Amino acid sequence: MKIDLRSDTVTKPSKDMLDAMMQAKVGDDVFSEDPTVKELEHQVADMFGKSKALFFPSGTMANQTALKLHTNPGEQVICDKYAHIYNYESGGVAFNSGVSCKLLDGERGMFTADQVVEAINPSDYWYAPSSLVAVENTTNKGGGACWDFDELVKIRKVCDTNKLAYHLDGARLWNALVAKEETTKHYGEIFDTISVCLSKGLGCPVGSVLVGNEDIMQNAIRIRKVFGGNMRQAGYLAAAGLYAIDNNIDRLVEDHKRAKEIGGALSQLSAIKVVETIETNIIIFELNDDVNEKAFVQGLANKNIHIISMGSKKLRLVTHLDYTNNMHKIVLKSLKEI
Ligand SMILES: *Cc1c(COP(=O)(O)O)cnc(C)c1O
Repeated sequence: MKIDLRSDTVTKPSKDMLDAMMQAKVGDDVFSEDPTVKELEHQVADMFGKSKALFFPSGTMANQTALKLHTNPGEQVICDKYAHIYNYESGGVAFNSGVSCKLLDGERGMFTADQVVEAINPSDYWYAPSSLVAVENTTNKGGGACWDFDELVKIRKVCDTNKLAYHLDGARLWNALVAKEETTKHYGEIFDTISVCLSKGLGCPVGSVLVGNEDIMQNAIRIRKVFGGNMRQAGYLAAAGLYAIDNNIDRLVEDHKRAKEIGGALSQLSAIKVVETIETNIIIFELNDDVNEKAFVQGLANKNIHIISMGSKKLRLVTHLDYTNNMHKIVLKSLKEI
């Protein structure tokens, strides 16, 4: 049995999810005629207390659309040095929006309101105008860390004072909500736009949603078109999203519990220097200097356990919907045998 812990994107739709998809009512969403896409968009907008949501084929496109909505070419986005929008979206910030990033030196992908204040450029004409603050919750490269909500509120105030837009890359926001017992409404109140992913922890084959208020979002549909993100009978995919929101959010606590147990087992291994704090479903650990990274990963692969490298001797495991209790027992046992 292959145990794939490389990412929470490796899940396949369950039978019940597939049933929901097959029964979806669909239409041409480019003509705004797909009732299931509309239902998903309304539901997600409502959850966040926003007036508009838009369904996207990927989280990357949802984020890139938000960046485009909030900036003009030549301006600057303030984000963490670990940010997905900066590291893992193929340089799209520059390519799609013509903006640069002012990188903050945060902790596990998170920074403070004071750091934002310092990063805002003066309005003198030789500086790039700062126009957007982008945060990520949970942080991907930061190992699934969750923000302190009070700090996010403080950053909102800095944005208000300095007329900056505020975007949340919430690809794994569901994990943060469950781990910290927070609500979508609270997040909707402080951010201008939020992207959420349906194809990570929630187990959908495809899909992300961008939410915001009508005034900002009216342009999003055009930008999505420019990026080639229009889909026709996408209701089949949106139905998976509706199913996932109803059935797969609360169970994320399971993923978090298993991740902590794996972390406990890893911290016993002499090959490992440090296991980073585990708050949600991502486990990042660093090997000792004398341990060969390739050999370590291969050793686990020989036991049918698949993980990935994050570079600089750091390795990552991610628990998810298709990682069963049975697999978990095997993993804990295998780690003891290393
Ligand atoms: C995965 C991820 C994305 C992008 O999602 P895709 O659907 O893979 O394009 C964006 N932000 C974060 C933090 C992610 O982890």
